[in-house]
Amino acid sequence: MSNNRCRRFVRGISRRIPCFVAWSLLIVLSSLYFIFISPWIIIQLSILIPIIQGIILLFVINNFILAINTDPGRYSRAPPDENDDSETTFHKTVEIHGTQCRMKWCQTCGFYRPPRCSHCSVCDFCIDTFDHHCPWLNNCVGRRNYHYFICFLLSLLVHMFIVLSFCIYYILKNRSNIGDLSSIISLILMVLIFFLTIPIGGLTAFHLMLIIRGRTTNEQVTGKFKSNINPFDYGYLFNCSRIFAASRPPRLIYEKKSISKRKSNLYEIETKKENMKNGRYSNKTKHISMTSV
Ligand SMILES: [Zn+2]
Ligand SMILES: [Zn+2]
Repeated sequence: MSNNRCRRFVRGISRRIPCFVAWSLLIVLSSLYFIFISPWIIIQLSILIPIIQGIILLFVINNFILAINTDPGRYSRAPPDENDDSETTFHKTVEIHGTQCRMKWCQTCGFYRPPRCSHCSVCDFCIDTFDHHCPWLNNCVGRRNYHYFICFLLSLLVHMFIVLSFCIYYILKNRSNIGDLSSIISLILMVLIFFLTIPIGGLTAFHLMLIIRGRTTNEQVTGKFKSNINPFDYGYLFNCSRIFAASRPPRLIYEKKSISKRKSNLYEIETKKENMKNGRYSNKTKHISMTSV
């Protein structure tokens, strides 16, 4: 394995570690709860409680999978023949709802980034309505997967709150058997979930504030609308419905297959033209090349 490939392999593995840790915490802690605490809840209270908790957990997992695997809104790079390297103006200004917005030239992708678009250094793509690159998802959070990201955070918080409440309830009702395996697991779950609730709750509150104000994390952190009006703020009701109720926008990227097919077709045509000039073509090939061109 060459040095470059080895480095890329190690980088790929290290990028996946936080996502693996997040999955492990979610699955292991939830399993411990359903194995050790839920049977007692079924006997003491109702079977409905674990069923509802199971549905919430499925919703959490579903949103987590979708946030990880959905294209966040990647833009295709300009093809080499359209990528004009001689571009000298690095900024262009456009007016959106009366506010001047700057569009920066992306050296890597070869086009002016639309407003709200930013180039992710980890994914190496320009992302539509870029929010941030999330290491826990090993994916960017952008226009196409923000809905799944916030739904994941909200449902996870509800799941954690219910598990924490029933663990506290279990400990209070089983104070005399505090040395039991179930009680020890309940205590461990309580401590871990309590300390995880603080950063996850804070992150969720921060994103809810951003949604209401019609901003992305990137715009908030870089202070983009500090001095002028945010042209993407349509009022808190529309800002919320845009995230929670709008349908997913279509993909912006060309399929790799179609690009390579187009390139290979162009290459074939060019080669055939060259060969025809040099008189190296059979009649059959000439016919094909003429119809292709
Ligand atoms: Zn770019
Ligand atoms: Zn990214």
